[in-house]
This record gives sequence, structure tokens and C-alpha cells, in this order.
Amino acid sequence: MKRVLITGAAGFLGSHLCDRFIKEGCYVIGMDNLITGDLKNIEHLFKLENFEFYHHDVTKFVHVPGQLDYILHFASPASPIDYLKIPIQTLKVGALGTHNLLGLAKEKNARILIASTSEVYGDPLVHPQSEDYYGNVSTIGPRGVYDEAKRFMESITMAYHRFHGLDTRIVRIFNTYGPRMRLNDGRVIPAFIGQALRGENLTIFGDGMQTRSFCYVDDQIEGIYRLLMSDYHLPVNIGNPDEITIKDFAEEIIKLTNTDQKVVYKPLPQDDPLQRQPDISKAKEILDWEPQVSRQEGMRVTYQYFKSLPSEELYKKAH
Ligand code: NAD
Ligand code: UDP
Repeated sequence: MKRVLITGAAGFLGSHLCDRFIKEGCYVIGMDNLITGDLKNIEHLFKLENFEFYHHDVTKFVHVPGQLDYILHFASPASPIDYLKIPIQTLKVGALGTHNLLGLAKEKNARILIASTSEVYGDPLVHPQSEDYYGNVSTIGPRGVYDEAKRFMESITMAYHRFHGLDTRIVRIFNTYGPRMRLNDGRVIPAFIGQALRGENLTIFGDGMQTRSFCYVDDQIEGIYRLLMSDYHLPVNIGNPDEITIKDFAEEIIKLTNTDQKVVYKPLPQDDPLQRQPDISKAKEILDWEPQVSRQEGMRVTYQYFKSLPSEELYKKAH
């Protein structure tokens, strides 16, 4: 039985990864300090014999007894409101946390996959973004704490690969959504759906002409799984190239939720990228992967999930 360590296990993507590796018949060790995650996302796994959970901050020395075959490092605040509120922890988990996990992978002779992001491209001057684009990131802007932590994470991972011969993978994840996102995490999909369900106006930042390309979680997990199982160690974009402006997206949410909410315009946060769309040629070629779930279908499932939550969740304050 393969033994897998997943950091950030109680978060959105981490919990779906735990489910996937359990389904693959692995022994899964989830690790999380619960700073933005929630044990509810993995409570269904606690009764299983092939799952265990460590409540641990990965910026502190990480020790796991026994053999490990795979490590997936997903611990990190991921939503702009989270990483702006805890900027130093964000830098530490990308830098010190990644260093600890690379050290653990080396000790255990395990393959390690790290969760990078489309944010390494910053506010991109090239469109769509392919892996050979170096990016346009402000080191000192508010988002720099996340973007630069992830860029460092890629660099130290490549250094361990080149210097120690470590078996590494780097996934650059583009905006992903689905069940288990937090309603109050500030990202645009839970923000708009939460507003519609509370009968509030939808808040568009800036003029709404900025674009994003949203990937459904099942597609993302499949891409990550295939990358881990491949022998490719350079970064690979995983995302859905179906691009939309935030303004049009707000209209889609109003239709989906069958509400007659209005939109209101708020200032665009500093360094908010104006356009984002993954070039997924590499994932297609190397992993034979492309997204299968349309935005219409993925959003329908996601809306049902948010609607099914207890109503107090709708009014919970952010962390
Ligand atoms: P999330 O906030 O739901 O999950 C992150 C998890 O990491 C949380 O459970 C949190 O408690 C945990 N964590 C944070 N710091 C920790 C620490 N020091 N020690 C242990 N655990 C810690 O976010 P998510 O959307 O699931 O993102 C997961 C990963 O994927 C992150 O690394 C993020 O940067 C990356 N990513 C996500 C997206 C996306 O669209 N969801 C896009 C790009 C990259
Ligand atoms: N956004 C918005 N209203 C909101 C939340 C977000 O208009 O209530 C915008 C945000 O400015 C950005 C886009 O939606 O341009 C996606 O934001 P999100 O936080 O989901 O992800 P990221 O900026 O990291 O891609």
C-alpha cells in the first residue's frame, strides 16, 4: 500500500486529494494546522483504517514515522483575503514549510509534488500564460507575499531536484472551484453566491473587465494526480482555459441563482491581475489531460453545495 502525506489536508483542494488517494487504495496521512481549513472537510475519513491526521504547522520541523512514497504539499492560505490577513505565515509556509517538506522527501526517498499557482505569472503581459513565461510580479506589493512565496517554492524545489536528485513535480494551479470552498473566503465564486443567497448586491471589483478562467475541482484533482504519476519535473499549468470577464460572470451567477440581485462596483484591489487564462498545451501533451466539466455544470453542483449548507454558514465572518 502506497503511503501518501498531504499537507493542507483540511482545506478545499487538500481534502479532495485525500479522497482521491483513499479511492486509489493508498494509506493517507493528512496534515494541517487548520488556519484556513476545517476538519469538517475530512471528518468522513476519520473512521477509515488507512487515514490518519496530524494537527501540525508545517513551518515547524515535520516528522512522520514510517515510509512515505508520495508527498503533496498543499498547505498555504490561498484566498487573497486570507493571505493579506496573514502575510508572514503565508511567506513562511511557502518558504520554511516547503523546505521542511523537501527535507522530509529526501529523508524518505519520496516523490514530492508542490502546489504552485498561476500567481507566479503575476499581472501577466503575455496571454494566455504558458509555462515558459517568467511572469510580472511586484515583489513589494500586497500580493507579493503569496506570489513570491510560491516563486521561491518553485526555485527551492528545482534546487532539490538538481542538487539532490529529488523526484519532484510542480503544478501551477489556475482558479479552481467546487464544493468545500469556504463561503466566506472572499474568492469571487463563494463571494457572489453568498451575496446572492443573502439577497445582497454582487460586489464587482474594478470595472469587471478583468478575466479569470475557472476550473472545476474534479478536473483539477485529475490533472494533479496524472502529473504526480508522470515523470515530468518541470512546472505544468492545470486549469480550464474557458475565460470570462468578472462582469459577465456576475450575470451568470444572477441567472444561476435565479435572483434579481444588482451589481455594485468597488475599487479594484492593488495588483489584481487584469487577465488570466492557462495555456494547457503541455498538460494535454504530457498528461493527456484536459478539463471535462463545463462552467455551467460545475457551477450548478457548486451552487447546490452552498445552498445545502446550514444557514448560519451564510453569516459567518471570515477568519
Ligand atoms: P485552503 O485555504 O482551502 O487550504 C489550505 C490549507 O492549508 C488549509 O486547510 C490551511 O489550514 C492549511 N495550512 C495553511 N498554512 C499551514 C501551515 N503552516 N501548516 C499546516 N497547514 C497549513 O486553500 P486551497 O484552495 O485548498 O489551496 C490549497 C493549495 O493550492 C494552496 O497551496 C494554494 O496556494 C494552491 N492553489 C489553489 C488555487 C485554487 O484556486 N484553489 C489556485 C492556485 C493555487
Ligand atoms: N472579485 C470581485 N468581487 C468579489 C471578489 C473578487 O470582483 O467580491 C474579483 C477580483 O478582484 C478578481 C477576480 O474577482 O479580479 C477573482 O478573484 P479571486 O479572489 O477569486 O481570485 P484571484 O484574484 O486570486 O484570481
